[in-house]
This record gives sequence, structure tokens and C-alpha cells, in this order.
Amino acid sequence: MKATLLTIGDELLIGQTVNTNASWLGDRLHGLGVEVQRVVMLADEQPAIMTALTQARAESELVVLSGGLGPTHDDLTREAVAAHFGVSLGEDAGTLARIQQRYAARKQPMPVANRKVAQVPEGFDVLPNPVGTAPGLWWSDGTQVVVLLPGVPSELRALIREAVEPRLRERGALRMVRQRVLRTAGIGESTLQELFGDLSAWLSQQLRLAYLPADGIIRLRLTALGDTEEALEARLDAFENHLRQRAGAYIYTRGEALLEEVVGEMLKERGLTIALAESCTGGLTTSRLTDIAGSSAYVRGGIIAYCNSVKREQLDVDPAVLKAEGAVSESVAAQMAHGVRHKLKADIGLAITGIAGPSGGTPDKPVGTVWIGYADSAGAHAIMRHFTPDRLLNKSLSATAALDLVRRQLLQGAT
Ligand code: ATP
Repeated sequence: MKATLLTIGDELLIGQTVNTNASWLGDRLHGLGVEVQRVVMLADEQPAIMTALTQARAESELVVLSGGLGPTHDDLTREAVAAHFGVSLGEDAGTLARIQQRYAARKQPMPVANRKVAQVPEGFDVLPNPVGTAPGLWWSDGTQVVVLLPGVPSELRALIREAVEPRLRERGALRMVRQRVLRTAGIGESTLQELFGDLSAWLSQQLRLAYLPADGIIRLRLTALGDTEEALEARLDAFENHLRQRAGAYIYTRGEALLEEVVGEMLKERGLTIALAESCTGGLTTSRLTDIAGSSAYVRGGIIAYCNSVKREQLDVDPAVLKAEGAVSESVAAQMAHGVRHKLKADIGLAITGIAGPSGGTPDKPVGTVWIGYADSAGAHAIMRHFTPDRLLNKSLSATAALDLVRRQLLQGAT
């Protein structure tokens, strides 16, 4: 079922109210298997609402309008909808009685303007509002549904849950949805897509894939729609297997675990300890590892070797190599990893040295050049990465890449 959301209110257009109804409805309807294909924000103006409703009805089986159902002169949604359908508005006795009761219960007289809230366009059903005054309104011709809901978020949500969802379910319009997240590290989204190859035989309205990148991690959201839980799980299993065959080395977890959690778990399982020598990341990688409860089981400690003298004196980096190759180099990164492993008596040494920027870059070592060193009982080596011109992003991407290097070494049987 395709849906269009028409969110109405001048306050949305001038940025005074954030359109949380749209995001909440999008999430909720998506979870029910409804495809929200368009969200529109509209002024409290009758012609604008009528035009948008005509377009929405031409493209969607479900149209949800929110806002503008209140008692004041700027609430025009029900008038616009009545004009669009070419029907008149009539007072609904049940709604009026409910509103009068609400006021009577509070021992207050009902303002006359509130009678407006009991006006219902001909042919619409009233959806009583369990938490407020203005009711929702429902119209259907058997193939299409138009729903009007109050703008107040708590009222809109209650009406969706208690009145709209049951009615849509009764019509068999809702489908079951299952989502699964796979998280990747060490790869960009375009390269990942290339590795996956042509997925057109897999992807459809019933099975979708979204790439959600942030800070060097890509969340792959797999969404399956169908009729039974078993069928959906089987479809997701088959698709996940296919993605793993293509790019399994980059997928570090199913679910939402952080990379530092997964690396920590791997170190713990293997009974290994780690020590870190951080230059451009200034301790960020150690901080991320120690964000995880229980990390004292495997984190020995770290040395922030920001200036060259600390690299020489605390990590035993060879001054001649430092001078010849520079602090941001393969040899220095490997020596830092080796040095911290020895100094802090850890099984694994991890080192990061790079040019975070915005200044300090050279033609052969531009800003964003980072070397990551790794040392264990088998020796030391380093890998290079080129990141961005942005200092803080480079720090974050470097920490992620360093943690991912440890993960890969451990997968390859490092000790
Ligand atoms: P009421 O009966 O309270 O008048 P209404 O249907 O007329 O309800 P509006 O007057 O448009 O709704 O908005 C009521 C309140 O709900 C306002 O404070 C507004 O900021 C908030 N609101 C309206 N639309 C949205 C939206 N799309 N997202 C979040 N909040 C909204």
C-alpha cells in the first residue's frame, strides 16, 4: 500500500515546529508495510490543501492529513477536504456530546468555537479522539483511504494506534515487515556496492537494501515485506548469505554492536591484551575501547605520543628513521606499535600517526594521510589510509580503521 502524508500548518513551514508527525508516521507506517512515497508540508490555506489532496489521491491508496482540525479560524483542513470531495459539513451529535462532556467533567463552559470541531464532511466516519478534543476523520471507497488527524503529536499517535491501524488491518492492507542490520567497517559505500555486484535479481518491493554510512561504518538495512514471519526470516537469511559471500570480510556484525564492542569481545575470547600508541587521534581509540564495560580485561593502556620526542623517548622510535621518513610514515607507525607493545607488556600493539589537518599537509603526504601500525608476537607492520580534509572526522575515521585492523588481524589468527 502506497501512502502520501500531507502535514498542515504554517508553523511547520516557518520552522517553528519540527515536523515530528512526518517522521513518526513514516517510521510507524513503514513498520506496518506501508510505503510512504511522499511527505508534503502545507500552509493553513484551503486552495493549497485541495491541490495537494488531489495530487495525493492520484498517486496513493492511503492519504493521511495531519493538523488544522482545531476550533480556530486558521484550522481549515476539514473545510478544504469537504470542498475537495464536493460535500457539505454537518454537525456530528456524538462528537459534540463528547466534547461537551469533556468540558462538563472539568466544570467549564464549552467555548462556542468548539462546535466547529464536531463538523464532519458528509461520507466521513468519526474516529473518537482518546486523548483530546478534535476527532480523526476516515473516508474510504473500498480501494482508497483518506484520514484526517489532529496535529498535536500525542493525539495523532493515539488515533493511529487505536483507530487507524485496526481499520487498515481489517481491510488486509497491512503486511508484515522484518528488518535486519549488518554493519561494515573498512570500506566505502560505493566500493561496497561494487563488491555486491548486480542485486537486481534480489531487490524488489518485497526486499530492500539501504546503505546508511556514518564515521567509517556503514549500516546495511535489509527490509523484507511478506505475510509470514518464517518466510521473511528465510528471505533475509538468504539475502544476508549472498551479501556475506560477496563482502563478508567487511561485515563485522549483524545487529547494532559497535566495532569496539566486537573487537573487545574477540580479544577477550582469545585471552589477548592490547596497548595503544596514539598520535593524531590523541587517545580517541583508547577512549572508544574503554567505553566498553569490562575492557580492563584486555586494554593494558595507551601512550599519547603527540610530539616526536615522546615517540622517541617513550616508544623507542629510531630517531634516524623519524628524521629520514617523517613522523607520518610506515616505519614510524610500525615502530610505535612495536614500542608500545613492549613498554606496556601487551600481546598486541596498535599505533596511529597521521596528518589530521587542516594544515600540515604536503604534496606527498596530504591532510588525511594516516598510517596505522600493528604489532604482535609475529612482528610489526603498518597500513596507510587517506581520509578527508576535516580534522575531527579524520580522528574518528582513523580510530575506526585502527580498530578494524585489529579485528582483521584477529580473524586471520593473530596472537
Ligand atoms: P488542535 O485541536 O489542538 O487545534 P489541530 O489539528 O488544529 O489541533 P494544529 O493546530 O495544526 O492541529 O497543531 C496543534 C499543535 O500540534 C501545534 O502546537 C503544532 O505545533 C503541533 N503540530 C502540528 N503539526 C505538527 C507536526 N507535523 N509535527 C509536530 N507537531 C505538530
